[in-house]
Amino acid sequence: MGSVQIVTTILAAAITAVAVWLAVRAVMKMTAVIRLGQPAPERFSDKGARTRTMLVETAGHTRMLKWGVVGAAHWFVMVGFIVLSLLVLEAYFEVVTPTGGLPIIGHWTVFGLATEIITVLGLIGIVVLMVIRLRNRPTRPGGRSRFTGSTMWQGYFVEWIVLLVLIFGLLIRGFKVATDHFEYPLWATPVSHAVGAVLPDWSDGASVAALIKIAISMTWLIIISLNVTMGVAWHRFLAFPNIFFKREPAKPAGSGLGALRPMTSQGKPLDFEEADPEKDQFGVAHVEQFSWKGLLDFSTCTECGRCQSQCPAWNTGKPLSPKLLVLSLRDHAYAKAPYLLAGGGKDLTGEEKATQAQLAHLDVLALAEADKPLIGTAEEGGVIDPDVLWSCTTCGACVEQCPVDIEHVDHIVDMRRYQVLIESSFPSEAGVMLRNLENKGNPWGAPQNTREDWTKGLDFEVPRVGEVDDFEYLFWVGCAGAFEDRAKKTTRAVATLLNEAGVKFAILGEGETCSGDPARRIGNEFVFQMLAQQNVETLNEAFEGRDKTKRKIVATCPHCFNTLGNEYGQLGGEFEVVHHTQLLAHLVATGKLTPVQPVDGGVTYHDPCYLGRHNRIFAAPREVLGDSIAGDLTEMPRNSERSFCCGAGGARMWMEEKIGKRINVDRVEEAMATGAKTVAVGCPFCSTMLNDGVNGKGAGEQVEVIDVASVLLRSVKPEQPQGGKETAPIGG
Ligand code: SF4
Ligand code: SF4
Repeated sequence: MGSVQIVTTILAAAITAVAVWLAVRAVMKMTAVIRLGQPAPERFSDKGARTRTMLVETAGHTRMLKWGVVGAAHWFVMVGFIVLSLLVLEAYFEVVTPTGGLPIIGHWTVFGLATEIITVLGLIGIVVLMVIRLRNRPTRPGGRSRFTGSTMWQGYFVEWIVLLVLIFGLLIRGFKVATDHFEYPLWATPVSHAVGAVLPDWSDGASVAALIKIAISMTWLIIISLNVTMGVAWHRFLAFPNIFFKREPAKPAGSGLGALRPMTSQGKPLDFEEADPEKDQFGVAHVEQFSWKGLLDFSTCTECGRCQSQCPAWNTGKPLSPKLLVLSLRDHAYAKAPYLLAGGGKDLTGEEKATQAQLAHLDVLALAEADKPLIGTAEEGGVIDPDVLWSCTTCGACVEQCPVDIEHVDHIVDMRRYQVLIESSFPSEAGVMLRNLENKGNPWGAPQNTREDWTKGLDFEVPRVGEVDDFEYLFWVGCAGAFEDRAKKTTRAVATLLNEAGVKFAILGEGETCSGDPARRIGNEFVFQMLAQQNVETLNEAFEGRDKTKRKIVATCPHCFNTLGNEYGQLGGEFEVVHHTQLLAHLVATGKLTPVQPVDGGVTYHDPCYLGRHNRIFAAPREVLGDSIAGDLTEMPRNSERSFCCGAGGARMWMEEKIGKRINVDRVEEAMATGAKTVAVGCPFCSTMLNDGVNGKGAGEQVEVIDVASVLLRSVKPEQPQGGKETAPIGG
């Protein structure tokens, strides 16, 4: 070993020892913080599916690749990080001797070729990512950026480290080529040979370059260890467990879509018949009341801003950004952690758990952080502003886009649950809706005995469950479908089409109450469970004696469809639920319905969030429209998985939209820009929101917003007056 190698070896060992010590400390700290969360035993089920999903999502980059160029570039950088870690290891042999290499594989041509290819692709990938970050920097002139609010220096730092590590990897090889100590042939490592051709014949060059490469890598480790909230770096390790422990590992898309998680206390679902707010946790009032998976979610956020770029609230000037919400919760959790780890925290009656002695030596900043209310205005020092919390439509665009499977909607609803159930703090206008649900079983407060009014004027009988036994489908009409004038037209259109196709169906009539979706999404789990239990009982009775495959329900409202199909199982109700567009598509495909007159004038389709993103039904409504209209469907730029919310989900339908641009107006502008005369929808709430938007723009005469079923009915029975006879207005 020469004198240069003695120095390089000592320096490499010293910086590595410091970095490893700091990294171990950081991992212990993060583990301690994440362990502060509540139990989540269900996250350990089905380890086979979890492992498969984790491998597919990470190795296949299935979620990242939704953003083609970024996804591909990131894949090369990720593979580069994993494989080229071997070259960082090899650098420890090279600081000792410039001709050193990894034992066994270090002289294998296949290894030389593979690492050469990955180095070059990694270089291209990181340059692409750097250019994308620069072109989207928040400070660029004009326009909003998905990086607004991200800690930009951390992103630049990580990218420069990757770039420099790759460059120094090539320099090490180059010095070996220049000194004629390179073990791989030219054909396998042409770039290394090209670099070597321009480097001097310096015998210590490889050792010095290896030391610099190690120093760069260890500087990265030191910096991220000193910044445990640096998700842009830590996600390289945390993404794997975060994806492994996602809510529903078998789901192809965001696991936090579809059903909401039941309300839990100590990891167990809460039964409201026995629950006691002094003994059981009702929603989330303090950051440590999230589950450990929630705290892992917050720690894993890469600050990429994909969620932010798709969020309807953020895109219309509301204060909510799913990214900033996650970052606020992360920063709060880590700043409050010293207090919690010292034994601090409030019990369920609001009493401090720690003794004065336990808190005596605590940092004042940690104590100040502990005093912050989780939900509160800036004046109150709140972590999350109420306007942020109540701006969410639960559209799921954030969950859909998140590359590391963060479950934003669950966290938002958990915080809403505490606000509604314990604090009774929510936008006052939604109080009417909740009272109507409790007293009348529907959000509008319409009399229950008018639930069947939509059947008036139809030229056939609509049977009730109980009057007929041999029905194939129970037609779940929904509150909008029963009480709201526009939605009643859809209900009548669907009933007419089912009758035309000879489908045996029956309704519950006055036996139906609200599915509970708006109560659950606003956070009132108590009212949700009350309504849901009643409906589950009614439905179980209606289907008595049938096995699950024969307990078929068709629903026109995607919110009912989602709740009945995905959430009633949590309360003992197992049904086969289809959306009406799925059933209609089947009836057309099997020749039971025949469109005869194509609807012309251009048609575009708005994907309802709870049908599309939350339940992956994108094709059926398009198939129905494809069979019913003249020409091709005109797609809006934001469609299918990336569809833009109408603004009504998450019980926002019953809240005023006081901040920013109205979401429905934004969507209507996009729909009208296609030039289509018909905007087809598959949800009564979307219909209301988009109709309001069109009318607000004074375009009611030029553009019509109607349900897919009504488009099909026009094509199947062009002679029939559409929508049937109007009945009394809501509540009338
Ligand atoms: S669910 Fe939709 S509205 Fe809510 S934060 Fe996510 S993207 Fe925004
Ligand atoms: S998409 Fe996921 S990782 Fe990216 S900023 Fe949003 S929450 Fe964080």
